[in-house]
Amino acid sequence: MNQSVNYVEKCREYLQMLCDTIPGRCVGSEGNRMATAYFSETLKSLGWEPKASSFDAMDWTSKGARLIAEGQEFGLQSSPYSMGCDAESILISAASMQELELLNMEGCIVLLHGELAAEQLMPKNFVFYNPEHHRKIIACLEAGKPAALVCATGFNPELAGGVYPFPLIEDGDFDIPSAFTTEEIGSQLLQYTGRKIRLISDAVRIPGKGYNITALKGDHEGKKIVVSAHIDAKKGTPGAIDNATGVIVLLLLAEMLRDYQGKTAMELAAFNGEDYYSVPGQMLYIAENQGSFNQVMLNINIDGAGYQEGGSAYSLFDLPENMERQAHSVFGSTHGFWEGPQWPQGDHSIFVQFGCPAIAITSEWFLQNMYTQRITHTPADHPRIVNPEQLPVIARAVTDMIKKC
Ligand SMILES: [Zn+2]
Repeated sequence: MNQSVNYVEKCREYLQMLCDTIPGRCVGSEGNRMATAYFSETLKSLGWEPKASSFDAMDWTSKGARLIAEGQEFGLQSSPYSMGCDAESILISAASMQELELLNMEGCIVLLHGELAAEQLMPKNFVFYNPEHHRKIIACLEAGKPAALVCATGFNPELAGGVYPFPLIEDGDFDIPSAFTTEEIGSQLLQYTGRKIRLISDAVRIPGKGYNITALKGDHEGKKIVVSAHIDAKKGTPGAIDNATGVIVLLLLAEMLRDYQGKTAMELAAFNGEDYYSVPGQMLYIAENQGSFNQVMLNINIDGAGYQEGGSAYSLFDLPENMERQAHSVFGSTHGFWEGPQWPQGDHSIFVQFGCPAIAITSEWFLQNMYTQRITHTPADHPRIVNPEQLPVIARAVTDMIKKC
C-alpha cells in the first residue's frame, strides 16, 4: 500500500466530483452517465481494466402537479417516473383495499389515502421483494382504468427513505398518471369527492441509457470476491451517504489493491439502479452472471457508509465459520467498527439470494436510526454530513479481509 497517498484528501476530491460537479446520479440521466464514466476513467488511471455493460433506462422530469377543485388550487408533486396528465373528472376515494375493490373508477380521478397509502407500493417489475397486498392494489387499479390518481401519504422511512410526503407509486412501468401530496391536503380533498376536479401533472418520461462498471484483478479462472457499491442516487438528492461514499471506498480499494495478484480474483462492481424502480443494473448483473454465482466466495457491499456521527457497522450474512472468524478479527479489531444486525435493503441481498456469503458495510448511526431518520433520498444527504476520515479506514479493513480470504 502506498503510504504517501493522502486518502482523506482523495475522498474529498471524489466526493466533490460525485455529489457536486456531477448534477445528480439518478439512473437514465446525463449525471448518472457522467458518474459511471468518471468511475471507469479513474479505475483505468489506477491500472484496472473496467468493463461497461449497458441497459435501457428512462429518465424523467416534472415541472410539478396541481389540482383544481371549485376554484381552489392545491400544489401536488408528480409521482416519480409517472406519465403526465391534464385530466378533468369526478373525484372518488378509497382508504382500504375493500373500498378500492368496490369502486367503479373508470375515467375517474381516484384519491388513495389512509391505510391504502401507508406503504410505498413496490414497482410492478421489482422481483426481489413484492408483497401480495402491493400487487393486489396495483392490479386492481390497472383493471379499474381510472384517468389519474392522487395519493395522500405520510412518512415511510422503511421503504421510501426520509421523505415526507413519500410517493406512493414510483414506477416507470405503471402507466396510470399519478401525483402525491400530504395527508393534510388529502383530508381537505375528501370534501370534493363526487365532484368534478382537474388534475394537471407536468411530467415527461425521457428514454436513456445506463451502465454497470465492473473490473477484475487476480486469477480469472477460480473463485472471486466481489466488492460492490451502487453508484446511482435517488432523484433530488446529492446522494452523499447513499451512496457516493460506497463508490469512493471502491476507488480507494482500486488504488490500495492496484498491484493485487491474489489467487482469488477480486471484482470491483459499481451497480447502477439500487435506488431506481426497476433495479436495471442489478438485473443485468444477475443475467450476465447467471450460473456463476457459485464462484463468488464472498460479496462485500458498501451502502450508506461514512456518516459523520458514530462509526461503521459490518453485518454478516451466511459466512462459513472460518471466514466469519476472519471477518470478526479484521472488522472487530478495526477502530470505529461495530457488528450490526442484518439489513436486507441493499445489493448484498442479491448475493445472499444466490447463496453467496456477504458482508454489508454501512454507518452505525443509520442502522440504529433506520426507521426514524429523515436523510436518505432527500437533499439532506449532502457531502457535509460525510466524515471523509472514515472511508480509508473502511477501505483498509476491506483490503485486509480480501488478503485473508
Ligand atoms: Zn443505497
